[in-house]
Amino acid sequence: MCGIIGYVGNKEAYPVLLQGLHRLEYRGYDSAGVALIQDDIINIHKRQGKVSELEEYCIDRDISGHTGIAHTRWATHGEPNDVNAHPHFSSDKKMALIHNGIIENYQLLKTELINRGHEFASETDTEVLVHLVDDIKRNENVELAEAVRLALTQVVGTYAIIVISVEDPHTLVVARKGSPLIIGFGQNEFYVASDGSAIVEYTDKVVYLNDEEIAILTEGDDIHVKTIKNKVIPHYVETLEMSLNQLEKSGYEHFMLKEIFEQPRSIADSMRGRLNSAKEIVSLGGIIEYENHLLNARRIIIVACGTSYHAGLVAEYMLEDLVRIPVEVEYASEFRYRNPIIYSDDVVIAISQSGETADTLAAVELAKQKGATVLGICNVVGSSIARATHAGSYTHAGPEIGVASTKAFTAQVTVLTLMALCLAKRKGKIAKQKYTHIIHELENIPKRVEEIFKLDTHIKEIASYIKNFNNALYLGRNYNYPVALEGALKLKEISYIHAEGYPAAEMKHGPIALIDEDMPVVVIATIKGTYDKVVSNIQEVKSRKGKIISIVTEGDTVVKGLSDYIIEIPETEEMFVPLLATIPLQLLAYHVAIMRGKNVDQPRNLAKSVTVE
Ligand code: GLU
Repeated sequence: MCGIIGYVGNKEAYPVLLQGLHRLEYRGYDSAGVALIQDDIINIHKRQGKVSELEEYCIDRDISGHTGIAHTRWATHGEPNDVNAHPHFSSDKKMALIHNGIIENYQLLKTELINRGHEFASETDTEVLVHLVDDIKRNENVELAEAVRLALTQVVGTYAIIVISVEDPHTLVVARKGSPLIIGFGQNEFYVASDGSAIVEYTDKVVYLNDEEIAILTEGDDIHVKTIKNKVIPHYVETLEMSLNQLEKSGYEHFMLKEIFEQPRSIADSMRGRLNSAKEIVSLGGIIEYENHLLNARRIIIVACGTSYHAGLVAEYMLEDLVRIPVEVEYASEFRYRNPIIYSDDVVIAISQSGETADTLAAVELAKQKGATVLGICNVVGSSIARATHAGSYTHAGPEIGVASTKAFTAQVTVLTLMALCLAKRKGKIAKQKYTHIIHELENIPKRVEEIFKLDTHIKEIASYIKNFNNALYLGRNYNYPVALEGALKLKEISYIHAEGYPAAEMKHGPIALIDEDMPVVVIATIKGTYDKVVSNIQEVKSRKGKIISIVTEGDTVVKGLSDYIIEIPETEEMFVPLLATIPLQLLAYHVAIMRGKNVDQPRNLAKSVTVE
């Protein structure tokens, strides 16, 4: 996954790079490094650990230079240590490179390069790139950019790279395929980064490089873009839509907490301009052109990973219930490798917060090849999935920095709800009265989320109970099954307590064997239709001494009487319960993780934007 940043211009590069690394650290944080050109040498400083450790290490080192690159790593090949950290040097140390992605044929290339006399320092796949570029540059006697281009013709895999060389001290050569990369324009200077957050304080004029494109960025010169196949192509300057204060913690202790509390606004932002309750109109501008494809779809296939997959499950329930079109929800990683049947009248919806999730992007390409209409639901504007799909709707949740997704989930569910309502109305599948009631209720959701925040102190008390256990089970039925999955995922990703989400009725087909007095069971018991069944499931847990933490509708008495702890959420339409019930589960996971002393914004082994398979 990794974050990469580069600078060339008349400023000192190091402060720009360091600040950029801090902003990109959510993408990877097992080691970090920086390379700076200083006259005819390149100084590389790199360190295992967080960016702050690199910063400390650099205090008494030479960090001068106007051209530089820096990297924060999420290791794929080779353990996180000082040597494997990027940047990597060529043999003569005259060239340095950083990389985000995976070079799949690195072993083959490495063997060839070793046979040609190259010596490797690290275990990474990345290091072959710099040796390969260097080898080509010497043997073919070509310029740096041409050597990079020729090297990339031999590479199988994904990459966003920045290369610098002392022979071209005022130039960055950058390229991408399957990993994100954005180029920013300053005054006779260039910024390059994995995403806009690292450069927004310097410029809002940007170019998004496409896959298999190389850009040559020389101080004082215009940008030059060509393809790996050596075709010169024009570039389009766009405006980066992001503000700096969206990237700060604004007084909160952690980004995750800030993002949880931002949800009334982010849900409202995802509805803004799309829901007009006075006129009772729901429209999604981004996909309007493809509305007929959706209405006439043989099937809707939703592809996603992680939390986005859970949003997809909520959408399945809503779309089938309201629109009566068959829906399948698949993990993108399974879908892409299992030779799925895709018809040209299927509509595939890809959901991804970052819009860069490698498996989801590959699923999009596969669906396009098979002739399906492909729509995207992404949060990051201009991201790869947003650009690869035929059309789509942005979630407008604002930048999500905490690695555990919170506001992106509720924003995804909001947009998918709007889609379901809009299609149900067009298809004539929803009664006028129900439609009116639902859209007014949807408009009230941000207010209801605010009400749930008042329970924070109570949720903290429950967290102090849960924090001592090693396992937890989350149960829900119907719309609350995806909520159970999402609640369990939040707890495990940031507190490292093993947690399973299960459809409540499935418990007796396995997980019930685990229940004893050391197993807290979180039950979401708000749904009218299956309420009695869930009550029976709770009884089954209690008979085996399991402890019940339940999320119920305000005023509930039955489940309340059976529970060790309860969280009461406001009453709403069944289909909107995921938007409310998820909030206390996010807070619960957050408080448990804090009480266990974990780093909630940067949980171990995880990264925000999963750009590797
Ligand atoms: N494959 C490279 C490494 O392990 C880069 C990893 C990444 O982009 O996540 O160092």
